[in-house]
Amino acid sequence: MRELVGMQLFWLQILILLVLGGCNRQPVGFQLELQEATSPENRAIKGLLQQADLSRVLVGLNAAFKLPATIPVIFREGPEQAVYEDGRIIICYDFLAHLDQALQEDFTDPRIRNEILLGEAHFVLYHEVGHALVQTLDIPVVGQEEDAVDGLATVIAVSVLKRPELAIGAAVALDALEQSDEDFHQEDYWDTHSLDAQRYYNIICWVHGGAPEMCEDLVAQLVPEDWFKTRAGDCPEEFERLRRNWARLLEPHFKPGIRLLARAKRRAKEREKTR
Ligand SMILES: [Zn+2]
Repeated sequence: MRELVGMQLFWLQILILLVLGGCNRQPVGFQLELQEATSPENRAIKGLLQQADLSRVLVGLNAAFKLPATIPVIFREGPEQAVYEDGRIIICYDFLAHLDQALQEDFTDPRIRNEILLGEAHFVLYHEVGHALVQTLDIPVVGQEEDAVDGLATVIAVSVLKRPELAIGAAVALDALEQSDEDFHQEDYWDTHSLDAQRYYNIICWVHGGAPEMCEDLVAQLVPEDWFKTRAGDCPEEFERLRRNWARLLEPHFKPGIRLLARAKRRAKEREKTR
């Protein structure tokens, strides 16, 4: 009897060691980190970000993808706006605090400014996640990568989170930070990013295409009437192409169980169609 209890304790100890070993292993995938903020403006931004559910998509991505390394996602003070470099995503409080200033003239209600700031923070995060996925998983991109990852960020906001207002917030932020035409320099035209105004209209088009019923009134306030005559008609197809093509590019990198789930869903849909 004593021997039996001893064996059980042995296996229990092995189990505990395995669990502890697993916990101590370096985590793989996106790891969110909100660093210290020192100025009052940056502390306000950090406080806002702490209330936002920024890690939700990262947890989902970590569960879905075979990511080869740890990718720190660092919010911190600094001069960069947002960047993916040296295997890390860095997004700076200062940039969001500057955006808050830029919004104050048009949006006197701080609650609306906070909504826009949160939209921008989410969107920029998914945009940089797009760069990280493209580079770590070697995903082919034809055309400008900056435009491609704007598309992915919009798909995440509209189709995954069902929160198209996040992408609208990002578009409003681009508008608030946009230079006036006289301020353009030649380097703005050779920059890897499309002009802010082009990014603004693209994001609005994709949101309009992906969630027309949810955002019709909002979109109508953000574009001139002619936009509906000349661009809006293409938006549903543009968004659907983005959504479908990103899914096709990312699916080979899903973990095995996720792939099976995606296939099972597709097969179930096909069976429904043939009925
Ligand atoms: Zn970028």
